[in-house]
Amino acid sequence: MPGAVWAIGEVADGSVTRLSTEVATVARRLAADAGREAVGVVVAADATGPAAALAAFVGRVVAIGVPIAEERPAAAVAAARIAALARVEQPAWLIVGATPDGRDVAGMLAASLDLGVLANAVDVRWDAGNGPVVDAAVLGGRVLTTSDFTAGRGIILLAPNVVTAEPADAPGRVEAAQEMDVADLPAVTVVEHVSAAAQALSIEEASVIVAGGRGVGGPEGFRVVEELAELLGGAVGATRAAVDAGWIDYAQQVGQTGKTVRPALYLALGISGAIQHRVGMQAAETIIAVNRDPDAPLAEYADLFGVGDLFEVGPALAAEIRARRG
Ligand SMILES: Cc1cc2nc3c(=O)[nH]c(=O)nc-3n(C[C@H](O)[C@H](O)[C@H](O)COP(=O)(O)OP(=O)(O)OC[C@H]3O[C@@H](n4cnc5c(N)ncnc54)[C@H](O)[C@@H]3O)c2cc1C
Repeated sequence: MPGAVWAIGEVADGSVTRLSTEVATVARRLAADAGREAVGVVVAADATGPAAALAAFVGRVVAIGVPIAEERPAAAVAAARIAALARVEQPAWLIVGATPDGRDVAGMLAASLDLGVLANAVDVRWDAGNGPVVDAAVLGGRVLTTSDFTAGRGIILLAPNVVTAEPADAPGRVEAAQEMDVADLPAVTVVEHVSAAAQALSIEEASVIVAGGRGVGGPEGFRVVEELAELLGGAVGATRAAVDAGWIDYAQQVGQTGKTVRPALYLALGISGAIQHRVGMQAAETIIAVNRDPDAPLAEYADLFGVGDLFEVGPALAAEIRARRG
C-alpha cells in the first residue's frame, strides 16, 4: 500500500490530548478518501495507555516508549523517534496538532525528513489530482488560504478545535515500536524547567470557559470570573487586553494571538468582542455575554447577551447556581 497518513499523538499528564483525537479523526478521514492506511504514533515515557486511547480513532497505533530524560527537550526526543520510524515506513503525510510542542515536532520533522509543512490547517480534504488540500486561517481568521504539497508528501499542522473528534467504528490495534537508531538526537539540553502557574484545566480542553476582559478592571476583578468557572467546572479565559495589563497569564488568552477554543459554553464577562478575540472563540456552541454596553460587538454574535454590570450579574449568577444546587 502507498504511504500512510500518520496522526502524531501528543501526551499530557499521561493521556493523549483532545487535539490528538481531532488529529487522528482527520487522519482517518483523509486516509479513507485517499485509499491509504491511517496510523497513530505516540511517543511517551509510558506510551501504551495513550496509544490504546488513540487506537479508538485509527486502525493502527505505534507506541514508542522512551525514557524521556529531564535534561532532554521532550519534543526533540519525540521528533527524533518519529523521524527514525518515518525513514523506515515512509508515510505520505504526517498530521500534527498545532500546540507549542507540536510546532516544534513538525519543524524538526520537516528538517530531518526534508518535508514541507502546511501550518494552521482548519480543513483538510482529499483531492484525487493534488493529494491533501489544506485550508489555513491567516490574518486572524479573516483570510483562508488553500494549499497542497508540490512535493507530494508533507506535514500538516492542524489547529485545535476545528473538527469534532469521532471514534472509528471499531478500535484499532496497538503495536510497540522496534528499537531504533536515534543517533541524530539533537544535541540540545534543557538547563532549567520553569513551571507556568498552570490551570487545573487547559482552556483548549475545557467544555466550559468563563472569560474576562478589560471590563473586570484588574486582577481582583478576575475573582468573579474564577468563581463562576469553578462553580461551572470550567476554565478561566481572557482577552489580550486583560493579559497585556498583567491581570492574568498569557496561557489563558483566547484569540488571534492566543488560543482557539471550542467549549460547549463560553461565558464572556466585560469583553467587547473584537474580531481578534472572536476568531478564537466563535466556534463555541453557546456564547453568553455580560456587558454594560448594549452596542458592544459581541452583541451581534452572542447567543444570549445580558446588558448589565458584571460585578452585579456575576455574583448574582453564582448565587443562583449555588441555590439551585441546594
Ligand atoms: C494583531 C492583533 C492581535 C490581537 N490578538 C488578540 C487576541 O488574541 N485576543 C484578544 O482578546 N484580543 C486580541 N487583540 C486585541 C483586540 O483587538 C481587542 O483590543 C481586545 O480583544 C479587547 O479586549 P477587551 O474586550 O477585554 O477590552 P475592551 O475592548 O476594552 O472591552 C471591554 C468591555 O468591557 C465592558 N465593560 C466595562 N466595564 C464593565 C462592567 N463593569 N460590567 C460589564 N461590562 C463592562 C465594556 O463595555 C467593553 O465592551 C489583538 C489585536 C491586534 C491588533
